[in-house]
Amino acid sequence: PALLFVKTSQGKEEGRRFYACSACRDRKDCNFFQWEDEKVSETRLAAREEYNRNHQPPFTHRQNVDRYKKFVLLPLSKRRFCQECQQLLLPAEWEKHSDHQFLCDITTAQLKSPSQLLYPLENKKTNAQYLFADRSCQFLLNLLIDLGFRRVLAVGTPRLHEMIQSKASQEEEFSVRSLLLDIDFRYSQFYTEDEFCHYNMFNHHFFGGEAARETCRKFLYEENGERVIMVTDPPFGGLVEALASSFKNLMAMWKETEKEGHDNKEMPMFWIFPYFFESRILDFFPSFSMMDYQVDYDNHALYKHGKTGRRQSPVRIFTNLTPSMIVLPEEEGYRFCTVCQRYVSSGNQHCEICNSCTSKDGRRWKHCVLCKKCVKPSWFHCNNCNCCTLQKHSCEKTDIGCFVCGKAGHKRSACPSLSHT
Ligand code: SAH
Ligand code: ZN
Ligand code: ZN
Ligand code: ZN
Ligand code: ZN
Repeated sequence: PALLFVKTSQGKEEGRRFYACSACRDRKDCNFFQWEDEKVSETRLAAREEYNRNHQPPFTHRQNVDRYKKFVLLPLSKRRFCQECQQLLLPAEWEKHSDHQFLCDITTAQLKSPSQLLYPLENKKTNAQYLFADRSCQFLLNLLIDLGFRRVLAVGTPRLHEMIQSKASQEEEFSVRSLLLDIDFRYSQFYTEDEFCHYNMFNHHFFGGEAARETCRKFLYEENGERVIMVTDPPFGGLVEALASSFKNLMAMWKETEKEGHDNKEMPMFWIFPYFFESRILDFFPSFSMMDYQVDYDNHALYKHGKTGRRQSPVRIFTNLTPSMIVLPEEEGYRFCTVCQRYVSSGNQHCEICNSCTSKDGRRWKHCVLCKKCVKPSWFHCNNCNCCTLQKHSCEKTDIGCFVCGKAGHKRSACPSLSHT
């Protein structure tokens, strides 16, 4: 399954619609392309199927689960992981990988933290795997436990899933369960079909078909009052409307699992995304609010939360839970604003005129009386442009509008008039 896009050319009303791969936004990774109204010949269809057959992963999820069972029975000295193929090897396969780099003596601890064993896929347009720093991951887990959740639908959050799985196997009283939905099929080597579904969050596609869908549905069914929360951390280059549509499908799935229970409620959700997407997310989920907590990552130098001269992470938690319930760590400088009824960053000052804590990036923002709102500390009011902006900007540029609707303030890709596609 692909996604329906629209090609628009300047000045034209209607664009031409076409299907393209939703997961791989780089044509080099997947060149699938088809006009919406295009007739596809039998031969081309057959060629496509042939291509797909030849590009399947070497083992199915089922096979990987069986292989894992064999692997854990091996003595340490026989446990190898091929770094080139990103695959656990059984002794009979060593030969085939003899000129590949591999790791030996894979411990049980390593098997329980696959996100450390696998290299992060950093292809910006496709996977963009940025793993939570331990502190942020621990914070998220403690937060959702304190909120009373016992089940976590982890959508594109392998490290959170891994933390939950590993605690569940080690600590007897730990009663949280999780299901990982992710497009990274390498995880099928480490988790059963009840713990991982190969899933595309840009078009709500379960690669495992009806059986996988059923696994997810079952997981969302809140047996014995075990409440579910969904936690997702999508690639930041992702199309917000495609993601929102998939998440709405997952929410609907949750809703269908119980007829009486949650009439007007939404499945609780944490959507982790940069703060500059706030208005886009609120367009699709008006019940959400953005928390000040800065989510930190391991392999993203820019987003690391250093001690001194620290670079601040732009990544936040968006949630449909009541903001006052999201308690942020005071030892990291967060404080509770009694007017706003939520925790805010230490630098986020309550503005008396806006009557809210207005900073988005953690720095103290300043109020502009002309714009009637708070703006970034580095901005100045430009009388030419009639708004606040960076001091060095060229005033002419501001009237280049969006290619689709001609209005200023957004680019074609974010044009509200395209939101139906
Ligand atoms: N911070 C998270 C990882 C976020 S990186 C953690 O530490 O757990 C984004 C995740 O989304 C990766 O695991 C990546 O494999 C997954 N992903 C990327 N594109 C996807 C898609 N189309 N469908 C589902 N998952 C996807
Ligand atoms: Zn593809
Ligand atoms: Zn406030
Ligand atoms: Zn203000
Ligand atoms: Zn201004």
